[in-house]
Amino acid sequence: MKKIVIASNNAGKIAEFKALFEPLGIETLSLKEAGIISDPEETGLTFIENALIKARNAAKISGLPALADDSGLVVPHLNGEPGIYSARYSEEATDSANNAKLLQKMSNFQDQERAAYFKAVLVLVRDETDPVPLIAEGEAHGFITKEILGSGGFGYDPLFYFPDKSQTFGELSSEEKNQISHRAIALQKLSTKLNTL
Ligand code: IMP
Repeated sequence: MKKIVIASNNAGKIAEFKALFEPLGIETLSLKEAGIISDPEETGLTFIENALIKARNAAKISGLPALADDSGLVVPHLNGEPGIYSARYSEEATDSANNAKLLQKMSNFQDQERAAYFKAVLVLVRDETDPVPLIAEGEAHGFITKEILGSGGFGYDPLFYFPDKSQTFGELSSEEKNQISHRAIALQKLSTKLNTL
């Protein structure tokens, strides 16, 4: 059986990737299962660069193909903030402090200025020197609300109003979110490319 390292220790993400790879006869290993304890420094300025850094590091240490993801929230009227710094936007780097900082920075923004999207990028390298990694991207477009709405999900979910569902991601069930999220879209796109593995 072929094996692939998922460059994450997030149980939810690993389960999603496992479901994708298992039917293809590919066994997934988490970083821990692959014996990788070192997290590389995410020195890139883009989601793609940071996903590539994580995937290449896992492939280098394990000697196996590796998949990494990177994601975040982009507000065009804030020049793309919080972007790749989504997880560490505020000094405290907690979801509630990040949300409070975003609301404060956008307090004078109206209408289209409140447009935002989540971005997810998946990068799969066959080995450390793979010159043609598989890359799949997904986006979910919406608006930043003026207050917290809903208590589901994580990160910026309670501030992210998704017009297609007329609710914030924080108000959706995880099943609903997993059907339309940026990560779900990227995952679907990756699955169409896996026959070139
Ligand atoms: P990571 O790529 O899972 O490390 O996510 C980076 C950061 O982006 C998270 O800590 C969140 O702040 C934000 N983020 C990414 N995806 C989502 C999402 O689906 N909902 C809410 N926040 C997200």
